[in-house]
Amino acid sequence: MHTVVIGGGIVGLASAHALAERGVEVTLCEKGSLGAGSTGRSAGGIRAQFSTPVNVALSLASLEVWDAFEERFGVDVAHRRVGYLFLAREEETAERLRENVAMQNELGVPSEFLDPAATAEHCGGLRSDRFAGASYSPTDGFADPDLAVEGYARAARGAGVELRTGTEVTGIRRDGGRVVGVELAGANGDGRIPADYVVNAAGPWARRIGRMAGVELPVAPRRRQMAVVEPERPVPESDPFTIDLDAGSYFRPEDGGAALVGGQWGEDPDADPDRYHEGMDPEQAAAAVERAGEWTTYFGPDSRIRRGWAGLYAVTPDNHPIIEETVPGLITAVGFSGHGFMHAPATGRLVAELACDGEASLVDIGSLGSGRFEKRGETERNVV
Ligand SMILES: Cc1cc2nc3c(=O)[nH]c(=O)nc-3n(C[C@H](O)[C@H](O)[C@H](O)COP(=O)(O)OP(=O)(O)OC[C@H]3O[C@@H](n4cnc5c(N)ncnc54)[C@H](O)[C@@H]3O)c2cc1C
Repeated sequence: MHTVVIGGGIVGLASAHALAERGVEVTLCEKGSLGAGSTGRSAGGIRAQFSTPVNVALSLASLEVWDAFEERFGVDVAHRRVGYLFLAREEETAERLRENVAMQNELGVPSEFLDPAATAEHCGGLRSDRFAGASYSPTDGFADPDLAVEGYARAARGAGVELRTGTEVTGIRRDGGRVVGVELAGANGDGRIPADYVVNAAGPWARRIGRMAGVELPVAPRRRQMAVVEPERPVPESDPFTIDLDAGSYFRPEDGGAALVGGQWGEDPDADPDRYHEGMDPEQAAAAVERAGEWTTYFGPDSRIRRGWAGLYAVTPDNHPIIEETVPGLITAVGFSGHGFMHAPATGRLVAELACDGEASLVDIGSLGSGRFEKRGETERNVV
């Protein structure tokens, strides 16, 4: 069996690797360089605290791989298990966190609900009086996305995957309703690759790839920004990935007391993935750091923004991915919102199961088909 994977981000690489491990011949086509899409612009967060069971299941299946990554692939991805701390300002949000924790505990996640005063134990620089409650899980954390790309690329090559960078897919070929291969830009005599399966792992470009196969996927690119900040008081490297849910703001420690500051600032909900502004907007970043100073003692007017960047979430209407065989021969693995880095290991294995077994078994992905958007009002939105 031969499969073409479109996209050399973390999802495409994990899929290519998992397919090759199952004995499939794989060609991965990446129009730019590996990891240069959303993956290299991610904060690298890895967590199992979610508000829906399917996202928790994707996390738990992925964590097994993140935990053994160096052993399996020979690359240390700097996986730091510092925990994630979700903070709620509103009572209603706190109540939701409490319910999430109960559901997560049932599925085996060691998260706990905390009263505001108890958050100091995990994050000393928090102004806990701003909050009504929190949730924390010690097995969450973050890793380095560039190193993860390197690790998966190395493992994929080792398993026999042909990684073709600078190779843009411009068309998807069909025969009698089945997808049978791809067409490439700048055809140098090999402008077509026949395939038994084509995998759409094109992140924010997913909708365009879908259209090449006559499929309309509700996946929109949404611009998000992040800044590397030297705070007024160093952020301890043991601090968790800390999220002020109601304000839509977060930070996590970087090396040497610095921090990554991100959140819903300066969002562009309908960015063009080929033409969006990839840099940080300095004024918006300064305002975001100032706001972070309202709920922590780390940031203030003398904080210095070292650098920053923007990237794209690929979002669906319910913030859950689409993982399915969309039409015969076309497997879709897209729309991961802010969770695609952490969920890539499980997704790769699910893609391989769909191609090799005709159905997925690692995680019940029955709720992740694109058909759910046709039944309006029936999908459960992921809010955390
Ligand atoms: C600011 C920010 C912070 C984030 N933080 C986190 C986080 O903490 N944790 C987390 O899990 N996730 C996070 N995310 C989300 C995460 O980055 C994405 O969900 C994930 O990287 C998606 O990976 P992907 O492989 O699907 O997409 P991408 O990495 O975008 O890869 C898609 C690839 O497809 C290629 N491509 C597109 N069209 C074609 C074509 N026609 N032919 C060939 N190749 C093509 C592109 O060049 C690109 O390299 C964050 C995202 C942003 C923007």
